[in-house]
Amino acid sequence: MKKCELCEDNDSQIIWQGDDSRIILIDDPFLPGFCRVIWNRHVSEMTDLSFVERELLMTLVFAVEDAVRHVMRPDKINLASMGNMVPHLHWHVVPRYSDDPFFPASIWSEKVRVYPEKKLLERRQLASQLPSAIKARISALS
Ligand SMILES: [Zn+2]
Repeated sequence: MKKCELCEDNDSQIIWQGDDSRIILIDDPFLPGFCRVIWNRHVSEMTDLSFVERELLMTLVFAVEDAVRHVMRPDKINLASMGNMVPHLHWHVVPRYSDDPFFPASIWSEKVRVYPEKKLLERRQLASQLPSAIKARISALS
């Protein structure tokens, strides 16, 4: 069987680890604040989960969205679950700005502009507050 990079993943910056899922902050040079919510068990689709598990996963995705929205103050949040390259269930939570290199297309498209350096630095600073903001929201759930 082909190796799954999310089953093997030990290097990512883990913000929060639960029994069923984990949340990581992606170290992407052009997308500060990019988070991923990963289901721990290797399944590929939302409908592989029970109703309770689906609700749990989406509750976490929305907790991350809320934190990203308030900390990063983006123009838009992008939520995506694709898994075409890595068919292990995960959600991307991406703060988007009208001046980011890919806007208004998806983050997987070609860059259409250079990131204004000052803005990029500001947003990297903001992203450093995300782990505590996300953990606070998850603590408030229980
Ligand atoms: Zn996997």
